[in-house]
Amino acid sequence: MKKVPFLTKDKAEEIAAEYGTPYHVYDEAAIRENAKSVAEAFAWNKGFREYFAVKATPNPFILRIFKDFGFGCDCSSMAELKMAYAAGFSGEDIMFSSNDTPAEEFAYAAKIGALINFDDITLLPYYLENVGEFPDTVCCRYNPGGTFSIANDIMDNPGDSKYGMTGEQMEEAFGMLKSHGVKHFGIHAFLASSTMTDEYYPALAGQLFGLAVELKKKCQVSIDFINLSGGVGIPYRPDETPNHIDRIGEGVKAAYEKILVPAGMGEVKIYTEMGRFMMGPFGALVTRAIHEKHIYKEYIGVDACAANLMRPAMYGAYHHITVLGKEDAPDTSRYDVTGSLCENNDKFAIDRLLPEIDMGDLLYIHDTGAHGFAMGYNYNGRLWSPEVLLHEDGSFSLIRRAQTLADYFATFDCFDEFKNMDAI
Ligand SMILES: *Cc1c(COP(=O)(O)O)cnc(C)c1O
Repeated sequence: MKKVPFLTKDKAEEIAAEYGTPYHVYDEAAIRENAKSVAEAFAWNKGFREYFAVKATPNPFILRIFKDFGFGCDCSSMAELKMAYAAGFSGEDIMFSSNDTPAEEFAYAAKIGALINFDDITLLPYYLENVGEFPDTVCCRYNPGGTFSIANDIMDNPGDSKYGMTGEQMEEAFGMLKSHGVKHFGIHAFLASSTMTDEYYPALAGQLFGLAVELKKKCQVSIDFINLSGGVGIPYRPDETPNHIDRIGEGVKAAYEKILVPAGMGEVKIYTEMGRFMMGPFGALVTRAIHEKHIYKEYIGVDACAANLMRPAMYGAYHHITVLGKEDAPDTSRYDVTGSLCENNDKFAIDRLLPEIDMGDLLYIHDTGAHGFAMGYNYNGRLWSPEVLLHEDGSFSLIRRAQTLADYFATFDCFDEFKNMDAI
């Protein structure tokens, strides 16, 4: 499918005139439309709730959009817990799915009443020793080991992943928690990332539902919810077929009716913790072409770099690029599109066919709405770009300002001469 920007060149220039380039921009109307279709796809399950994975797009304005749909937040650190809490989420609105967790983060999660998801069995005695007694409701994260495959297609290797507990440990953990007075239990697993098939959630659900029936029987506990976590992918490339959330919801429903309902577990709530699927396609990084270089290859230098979007440098991830105003121009030039970091992997595209780029053109880098701004870092002293929310009526708001040099130097406040860096 041809990838179409949600922003015209004129609108992109209007935002640039206000906040400069580069910037991350999000499409509020599309975020809401997609959130609605997620809620509808799982409406068959009375207790369904999406806990948006805050790490994908950690911004309170985005979190509040999801709050309108009754969704919660999935947090994995102190900063994310505090962001969700300050944005108006508390108690069971928050799922705390972390790993290698420091005691003070458990304590804070408990204080605000978040649902705690234990990544490992050793964290149970650690919690008792450092935090206190368990809350009434506790979730445990499962890792089946081996490989996770659908129709002979290996999707991922849980056996190599650091997350979750073995089946035996799940049983032992539930027993231990029960003996400490825990009354309600949840099961969680994340077995494959960026999946491009409607079969992922249904297959995962089938495994977890089976495990739930078994654990309920063996441990005599009440299983309240099953959290399918994240992993639903988006089409980064034009030739990929998007997932269909309605079919995914139907697939999970079929597994639910086949496995849970006959076991007398037709009240179990389904939770999801999607990040990428909720936000990925609805964000873009807009950057300006500022240099061209002709050596052994043709290079276009832009004013964004991997500090604004790390996925291409880190995973070789593909992000589609549209040259704004040249949407229908033929792709006549082959470029490497690069940022300024002193790292040769700082390239948004390699050998990419694009329309001929003129200096000053705005490049629209698609699908940066999840794990985009969020992975920003300050290597080479590069600063974070602003985040802008485009509203349905075409107006836009700044939802996070750009980082300044003063922000960058703030942690040197033990040196007087670093206190006013914007002024020197
Ligand atoms: C990253 C993460 C998610 C979100 O994953 P997506 O691939 O963005 O959907 C959900 N849950 C947990 C525990 C995660 O670590």
